[in-house]
Amino acid sequence: MKEFDIVIIGAGPGGYVAASRAGNLGLKCAIIDKRAELGGTCLNVGCIPSKALLDSSEHYEYAKKSLQDHGVLVGDVKLDLKALLERKDKVVREVTSGIDYLMKKNKVEKFTGTGKLVSPHEVEITAQDGKKEIIQGKNIIIATGSVPIEIPGLPVDGQAIVTSDHAINLPQVPEHLVVIGAGVIGLELGSVWRRLGARVTVVELLPRLFGTADKQIADLALRALKQQGMEFLFEHKVLKAEKKGSKVNVTVQQPDGKETVLMGDVVLVAVGRRPFTDGLGAKEIGIEFTERGRIKVDRHNYRTNIPHIYAIGDVIDGPMLAHKAEDEGLAVAEIIAGQKGHVNYEAIPWVVYTWPEVAWVGRGEEELTAAGIAYKVGKSYFKANGRAKAMHETEGMVKILADKKTDRLLGVFILGPRASDMIAEVVLAFEFGASAEDIGRSVHAHPTLSEVIRDAAQAVGGWAVNQ
Ligand code: NAD
Repeated sequence: MKEFDIVIIGAGPGGYVAASRAGNLGLKCAIIDKRAELGGTCLNVGCIPSKALLDSSEHYEYAKKSLQDHGVLVGDVKLDLKALLERKDKVVREVTSGIDYLMKKNKVEKFTGTGKLVSPHEVEITAQDGKKEIIQGKNIIIATGSVPIEIPGLPVDGQAIVTSDHAINLPQVPEHLVVIGAGVIGLELGSVWRRLGARVTVVELLPRLFGTADKQIADLALRALKQQGMEFLFEHKVLKAEKKGSKVNVTVQQPDGKETVLMGDVVLVAVGRRPFTDGLGAKEIGIEFTERGRIKVDRHNYRTNIPHIYAIGDVIDGPMLAHKAEDEGLAVAEIIAGQKGHVNYEAIPWVVYTWPEVAWVGRGEEELTAAGIAYKVGKSYFKANGRAKAMHETEGMVKILADKKTDRLLGVFILGPRASDMIAEVVLAFEFGASAEDIGRSVHAHPTLSEVIRDAAQAVGGWAVNQ
């Protein structure tokens, strides 16, 4: 039987980062995944393919609606959906093969098959052809991720009623896409298909977007999405979806309790994800779970109740974000190697890749008020920024919340072009415990979009030189 210092089950952003770092630290590692292509949900069917589609669909819509404003005339803009999807697949192939390279470089042995814990130190791997093999780990890391939640009454068939797994591959643009859930997936994939020509209706249980994010920013994002033509039904509950010929009838309950039916061609169920531990054998060997079905760990060291078995990423508590899993992967590898791995959960960025993008770190006004924390606010708008004007992308704003007494940053919210990249500056500021004035006094290259962050930071102190 092959023996390893660490056996990692699941090669998504949590698992492969743990493997790469542990290998780099000289530990003998094995990584198991049922997909031959490493990278898990994120690289294969999640973050990466959806971003490829978002970028392509952005170009398509831009060419149709905005290029002429730059004085660039392109005639009749047409969509080649097959080519667009093929490009997305190529991007996925390139990034997943990059992970293979990373594993080889760090001397991590890859096993393709489904991993199952058969004892506290043994993992059985079942290959697609049914062949079984057992390997042994001094330590084991569970990084099996999550799968889309399916709800009763909405039987997913992969064609008319789909999850994000299928919505990245629709063979034609639906006439009417009904999206269940105004979460990140619903808004991102809804944006893709709207840009490509679908009518998109989003049905959401709650009264607003982005749960705990600052309401002003969430409302502005909603206004932008509505202006683009996305339709929203808030405080509506989906009861069932039924196929009727080539259409799907979606029955929803209105806020007044009455039922109404929406007719769509495709229904995207995007109501969240659940931790994936089916068939893992974790319960059978005595690993404890939380009430909400996640694996229970000590958040300081990621140990389960069986101390040499660790768990990270979507299977444990916390936001289901690839970068959260990555950082836990890094931390757990270092902890197993005897170092002091650590994740700062106060500085985890959120990004929604709509257009304009939405990105934030920390807490919004409503959360701070509820917690009784006194704060100051600074705001700045992209419409006053030279680079945004040059790009013809002036929608959105930056809002900074800082402690009233100490000026320490509490929350930074960006709605605007390339917010996803700009939030990195703010995360770094959070890591250093920076004040708003620290950002306001840091030189930002001119002209750049990031000057809006600086301007908002100066506005916190009431000395914004450009306002
Ligand atoms: P989500 O939790 O972000 O949103 C689900 C939404 O569905 C919620 O607003 C919820 O109120 C609503 N909902 C639940 N049941 C409903 C019902 N019966 N009818 C109507 N609405 C209902 O989940 P998601 O968008 O499916 O994404 C899953 C996970 O993947 C999330 O944790 C998300 O953070 C992650 N993800 C992140 C990104 C990113 O960071 N850009 C992108 C995609 C996915």
